[in-house]
Amino acid sequence: MFATSYRESRALFRREVERLGGELQAFVVDADEDLTIDVARFNPEAKRVVVISSGLHGVEGFAGGAVQLDFLSTGWPDDIGILFLHVLNPFGMHHRRRVNESNVDLNRNFLSPEASYSGSTPAYRELDPLLNKASPPSAFEYFYLRALWAIFRKGFNALKQAIVEGQYDFPKGVFYGGASLEKSAQILQDNLPPLLDSAERMIWVDFHTGLGASGTYALLVDAPSDSDRYRLYRERFGDRVQPWEPDEGVAYTIRGGFPSALQRWFGDRIEVITCEFGTHPPLRVLRALSIENRVHHWGGDQEAAKAEIMEVFCPQSPRWRQTICQAGVTVLQQAVNRLQEGA
Ligand SMILES: [Zn+2]
Repeated sequence: MFATSYRESRALFRREVERLGGELQAFVVDADEDLTIDVARFNPEAKRVVVISSGLHGVEGFAGGAVQLDFLSTGWPDDIGILFLHVLNPFGMHHRRRVNESNVDLNRNFLSPEASYSGSTPAYRELDPLLNKASPPSAFEYFYLRALWAIFRKGFNALKQAIVEGQYDFPKGVFYGGASLEKSAQILQDNLPPLLDSAERMIWVDFHTGLGASGTYALLVDAPSDSDRYRLYRERFGDRVQPWEPDEGVAYTIRGGFPSALQRWFGDRIEVITCEFGTHPPLRVLRALSIENRVHHWGGDQEAAKAEIMEVFCPQSPRWRQTICQAGVTVLQQAVNRLQEGA
């Protein structure tokens, strides 16, 4: 079931977890606004655990939360632990933004301890006036034309990589990775390793939307396409598996990604899968992000900008919604099965 607000999604999630006898706790991100990351645990003694997270990108939590709710009702074997993390970026979902309270893309915020929060690609700097113009958006800016011209000059994959890799130089820009570890990222870094201390094997599935063709999904894994690890993922999860490489599928390489942090925290105990559901064509998604970001910082038609953001990250189409819920539950069941086979 798809909620219409962050609070409704959280209430539905908590109620279902309570009904099923799971352990609930909440990490407070903002006490004044009552924004929390909600954690639910089932079979806490199990050594093999599937972790299911949603809403790292705020507004994408509408879809991720719906998949979590559906999976809750399907059940799982007693010897598999299940840990749900409901909406890692509650500010973003509550305010229908992809980023958090500091305009930070949390999936670019987890730089390794030795890396510095600085830098951007030359192409991003060149496109800054198109993506992040410091004024309310108007109807006559020809976003598509200018974007197509840039694509014509640089190639789609090169441009995709340059824009979305993550940047640390434009705090009011899109895909901004922050100036230091964000509060909610710190909360996860402090709390997740102890919470999963006794888990010997984990499969982590982090749900996202907005990349890829409508109604399809990709399972992005942090392994080069010529590696043994990658081949193993393909064996386990089939041909939906794709690497984070711009020339091989819907994705791109990112700096400071959440999966890389999980890999640092849990080492070879964990396999991390980013499940991406496609929604609308990439230029429409990029345009929606650019406009919503400008309206947020410089003013303009809030309502229209938010409606378009909702549509590109959680389409209204009942068929899309049904398809992604079924696919999400299937991926999670595959993860459970793989952990059981590896007994
Ligand atoms: Zn995302």
